[in-house]
Amino acid sequence: MKTGRMLSSLLLVSCTLVLACSSYRTVEKQKAENAVTAKRMVGELERLGKNGQDFIVLGVDAPGFDQLAIKQKLLAYYLYRAAVAGHTLIDQQNHRYALEIRTLLETIYLFSKGMEPQLQEAVLDYLKYIWINHGPYDHDSHVKTLPNYLTYERLQKAAEYAQAQGARFELEQEETLKAKLERLRPTIFDPNFEPIMTNQKKGDDIIATSSVNLYDRRLTEKDIDALPAEWQQRLNVRFGFENGKAIPQVYKIGGLYSEDLATICHFLSLALPCAESEEQRRGIQFLIDFYNTGDEEKFRQYSINWLRSNTIIDYLNGFIESYMDPRGVIGQFEGNVSFVSDSTLIDRLAENALYFEKRMPWPDIYKLDKINKPVANVVNVIVETGDSGPASPAAYNLPNYNDLRRDYGSKNIILLNIEEARSEKIRNATIDEFYLPEYRETVRNFGDRARQWEVYMHEVIGHGSGKVAASLKVDPAVAIGRAYSSLEECRADLVALYHASDPKLAEIGAFKKEEQADIVRAMYLSFLQGQMNRYRMYEDDFVREAHQRGQQLVMGFLLAGGEKGNQDYGTRVVKKDGNFYVQLLDLEKARKGIGNLLTVLQVIKANGDTAAATQIFDRFGTRVNPEWRRNIRERAARLKLPNKSAIVFPRLEPVMEGSEIKDVRLYVDEDLATQQLRMSRLRFNKRIPE
Ligand SMILES: [Zn+2]
Repeated sequence: MKTGRMLSSLLLVSCTLVLACSSYRTVEKQKAENAVTAKRMVGELERLGKNGQDFIVLGVDAPGFDQLAIKQKLLAYYLYRAAVAGHTLIDQQNHRYALEIRTLLETIYLFSKGMEPQLQEAVLDYLKYIWINHGPYDHDSHVKTLPNYLTYERLQKAAEYAQAQGARFELEQEETLKAKLERLRPTIFDPNFEPIMTNQKKGDDIIATSSVNLYDRRLTEKDIDALPAEWQQRLNVRFGFENGKAIPQVYKIGGLYSEDLATICHFLSLALPCAESEEQRRGIQFLIDFYNTGDEEKFRQYSINWLRSNTIIDYLNGFIESYMDPRGVIGQFEGNVSFVSDSTLIDRLAENALYFEKRMPWPDIYKLDKINKPVANVVNVIVETGDSGPASPAAYNLPNYNDLRRDYGSKNIILLNIEEARSEKIRNATIDEFYLPEYRETVRNFGDRARQWEVYMHEVIGHGSGKVAASLKVDPAVAIGRAYSSLEECRADLVALYHASDPKLAEIGAFKKEEQADIVRAMYLSFLQGQMNRYRMYEDDFVREAHQRGQQLVMGFLLAGGEKGNQDYGTRVVKKDGNFYVQLLDLEKARKGIGNLLTVLQVIKANGDTAAATQIFDRFGTRVNPEWRRNIRERAARLKLPNKSAIVFPRLEPVMEGSEIKDVRLYVDEDLATQQLRMSRLRFNKRIPE
């Protein structure tokens, strides 16, 4: 499970012209290396979208890397290369043409010297969306994103120009460039052709109507249901279609995605001797075995060792989250590398996990009697690829296997440098526009810490909490199916909201006792108003993304006064001077509603109650009020508020002595295009330095 970045509080750090950390080098040496620019690419680098509203692109630094020991730097470097080697796997999972479109556009761009600037810009603009979303569909909403400035005719013109400049395009047998473009045309330009990557709408055949490349286009739900349970629950598989049947294709060396996985394994093998602990070493070895055999048991073993290893350098590499699969089972690739920053407070929260478990509002039979203290770390990220980069989450709680969480606990990672990459200017504008005047100071002064503790609690005591009914024989994710991700995210959010007022938090030093009431108020307000503010991103009245469905459910439930509608949860949406705002009349009543909903969701999860899960989300968590949405969108457009962020990560470069790596340096000197083009070059590249 991952937690999304909060987009209403991005920090606008203007792109500052500071000398890079390499400034000590001689000019000659720098010229010779021809790599390092003098710009520190940190903070807002650019905006995308016709109104600058689609994305804010933020460069992040990873302070503290230089202080790591050389062996840790080496480990980080090899894991970094492993993450980068897998960066297009998710493109390949996204849509059958997603990687082809990326390569086509990159090739055009690389041969665009002398091209009419507007045409070049139109190609690059669309390419940036492809990089960020890893395909033609929005990473979160799974709806097709059309080019802003590119038309089919202009794409043709650009491709022909590049071809004349010497570009060589990958062509299928006997296919001309013209035929290739014609083949890709509906995927890129036709909004009605395969409009949704992941369709989970009730009543639809979710396989047949989803264009995600985890399933051959001819497959239906019936074909998948006909497979043995073992295949239906498999994490690392694509389903082809042969002789009227679904045929599993396993991701492994020698199977699907062979060469990408072989490159990843090459770097994992180099990382192995640098491991910081025995668990970490074993984890890496199991991961290599998993990629070699495709045997999911090896990935489970990796997960156990990974969650137990509490090391300075940490990483993710694998098919982990399952938001892309309409059934919510198959994993999408992501890789990341990070190192621990300061974990004192989150560690104290983890020590008290059982204290909070005992105080959950649900019946005791669904409470854990003992909790293995979860590993919880606040880290700085060096790189994220695939599912987690350039569109980065704020935090993780893994593994996703419920039985492993029950038996071994979980690991929580808060991505500090990502969470802090935001814009003060945008934050203030958001608070002034969207919050009722009487709440603005509270949110301004306490919103940050409220958000911090909401994330900590969501991850550390939220996802790991609760126990399923003894009668439930399968993983609740499998039992509940399509509503599970949203339900689990919502459950973790509710745990945070429910316990935010517990005196234990002040006791462990989370904040001062006298500040707690304000922090709780800021947390509730920004949770509810924050969800309403997300309406600015919705093209229709339907909520699609899992976390947002959860947040919408909380809002809908509180406003409606519960399932029977006979409760007052102290929460309103009011109209003032023509604008809509969330109003929190009574925090205690709101908390009561939070506790009631949390109990409902825990009971649903514990019993794998699909019908109840679907019903409660259909009722409160999927539709938004059209009038509120229109109003929010107008106000956001006036402020040119960016809807989402994309991250440009630091770059690692080894310092060589002969064929040995003597040191590893970290640079923040790339923009989005430079970084993505470099990553594409590194896909099958095993050389060091690159
Ligand atoms: Zn989560």
